[in-house]
Amino acid sequence: MIVCCAGCQKPITGKFLVTVLERTWHAECVRCADCGCALTDKCFSREGKLFCRSDFFSLGHKWRLISYMSF
Ligand SMILES: [Zn+2]
Ligand SMILES: [Zn+2]
Repeated sequence: MIVCCAGCQKPITGKFLVTVLERTWHAECVRCADCGCALTDKCFSREGKLFCRSDFFSLGHKWRLISYMSF
């Protein structure tokens, strides 16, 4: 079974995958949807998009902190 990345829609091979929002991503695809910075520890989500802390709060969203697992 091939797992596709929720960010780039390409198949994920190898060990560089993480699960965020119950979907699977390449580690390098877990980035802020606004500024593009890598989200390496914790990130914030809204409507399936990921944001870094500063952008999430600057956008004024009701925040929801998520953490994710690395394999
Ligand atoms: Zn990807
Ligand atoms: Zn950002």
